[in-house]
Amino acid sequence: MGGMCDEEITAGSKDEMLAKGMEHVEAAHPEMAESIKKMSPADPLMVDWQKKFDASYEAAPEK
Ligand SMILES: [Zn+2]
Repeated sequence: MGGMCDEEITAGSKDEMLAKGMEHVEAAHPEMAESIKKMSPADPLMVDWQKKFDASYEAAPEK
């Protein structure tokens, strides 16, 4: 999801996709999950990631 890795995640909505993506990160990339949790949603890195996620979701909503 969002270029984090090659895992294909399908979901019916953007929120579901985010939740599933986070579950996958926690299961498969625990160290990445840790650093995400330490970051504030207002962190420029997170804001940038969110923008890319929105753009790629709009481009391929079924993924
Ligand atoms: Zn992954």
